[in-house]
Amino acid sequence: MEKPKEPQVLTQLLKRLAAQFPGADLDMVRLAYEFADQAHQGQKRTNGEPYITHALAVANKLSTMRVDLNTVIAGLLHDVPEDTSYTVPDIRENFGVDVAALVEGITKLGTLKYRGMERYVENLRKMFLAISKDVRVVLIKFADRLHNLETLDALAPEKRQRIALESMEIFAPIAHRLGMWEIKGQLEDLSFKYTDQESYAWVSQLMATTSPSKEKNLAKVMALLRDKLDENQTITVLDIEGRAKFLYSLYKKLLRHDRDISKIYDLVAVRVIVENVTECYAVLGIIHQLWKPLRGRIKDYIAQPKPNGYQSLHTTVFVGPGEIVEFQIRTKAMDEESHYGPAAHWYYTEQGKPKEGIKMNSPRYAWVTELVKLQKEIRDTTEYLEHLKIDVFPENIFVFTPGGDVIALPDQATPVDFAYHIHSDIGNHCVAARINNKLMPLSTPLKSGDMVDIVIDKKRARPSPDWLQFVKTRTARERIKLELNRSRQLFGLFKKV
Ligand code: MN
Repeated sequence: MEKPKEPQVLTQLLKRLAAQFPGADLDMVRLAYEFADQAHQGQKRTNGEPYITHALAVANKLSTMRVDLNTVIAGLLHDVPEDTSYTVPDIRENFGVDVAALVEGITKLGTLKYRGMERYVENLRKMFLAISKDVRVVLIKFADRLHNLETLDALAPEKRQRIALESMEIFAPIAHRLGMWEIKGQLEDLSFKYTDQESYAWVSQLMATTSPSKEKNLAKVMALLRDKLDENQTITVLDIEGRAKFLYSLYKKLLRHDRDISKIYDLVAVRVIVENVTECYAVLGIIHQLWKPLRGRIKDYIAQPKPNGYQSLHTTVFVGPGEIVEFQIRTKAMDEESHYGPAAHWYYTEQGKPKEGIKMNSPRYAWVTELVKLQKEIRDTTEYLEHLKIDVFPENIFVFTPGGDVIALPDQATPVDFAYHIHSDIGNHCVAARINNKLMPLSTPLKSGDMVDIVIDKKRARPSPDWLQFVKTRTARERIKLELNRSRQLFGLFKKV
């Protein structure tokens, strides 16, 4: 049989990867494509396209985010365990432990569901990162979500709304905290269209009428700067680009400025990318010689980076009567990091070879450090430390109390484990459980993101010995036995268990 022609998107992907990783063996990428294509055979997306188009789109997005090859391969395979008969062990066998761990992370994240409840939002964001463990999993999830948002029109209005809202309230803030500006902006703009249609229409209209004249002016400004910088032999300019502000961030700014677009200075900003820090300051000097800076608008985020690690020099200058332009000056490394966050430059050594896997414990990212602390706290307070080996975070799930607190439990834990984790009294008297507001058996295995509400009956005399068959935590097991033995002593009813 003749082999089907390689799709064009795959050819493009392989070409980009070949340029990025000279000499690398791309057979694994091809194999991953074939594996995913076969696994998803016959499946269609809601818009009618074959499912594999989604996997390819995700891998393509990842290949522009400066990630390693394994992440791109995992991107191709990311929906396999959830949607096909192939499992994570199948992927491990064919593509190795690293790819399998990434795909497993994505599959686990898939069980986290946003229910639009305000008090859960912050904990949900933390859970998202705690489950991810590796920044690359977060990047795959973002690439996945971006493509889903781009193709959201095909979905039913209710689902559309849920996905857009989740992207806005959970995903975009995480991208923000990780310093992935480009991704954050894209997530917000794609969601904005669905979360607030009216405002979206207003801002896009405003932008469409205001920015063409600005952009024409901007082209002149950029050309003039380019000439001046070229005259200066000591500066190597890698790029000068003008770009419009993201719509959603413009919208938020407009709300702070009486909805008056003439008060927005950075509607379009010019980004100057140079080789080193010394050149950044030299460029700032040249810009200030050309145009008069606005008072109080010069910001040195190189000497004083933002808490999330963002580095750049900012200045806003008068380029003509009433015309104001913001400049952002930075090095290539700073620029890449501002697009894709921590994955960008501490993933690569100078030779372009990937370093050790990215773990989210770089001291530069305050919030990530906080997350590592959170994982440690969970680890310290959980009572099944006997399973814990160095470097291995136990297979945890994270569930909510009705008050929005997060409880970490081992995989497959049940409402009875949850009840005993809260208090022995609640465990001893529990009779039923509501999981996400649905009455469920006490033996139901919980999933990350579940909200668990225990129904108690004070008249219940003692725990059921049957519970010992399904509880997963030592706490629950020991407390059940203790209580049963106490009852036995009191009433002489039971054999010792
Ligand atoms: Mn997907």
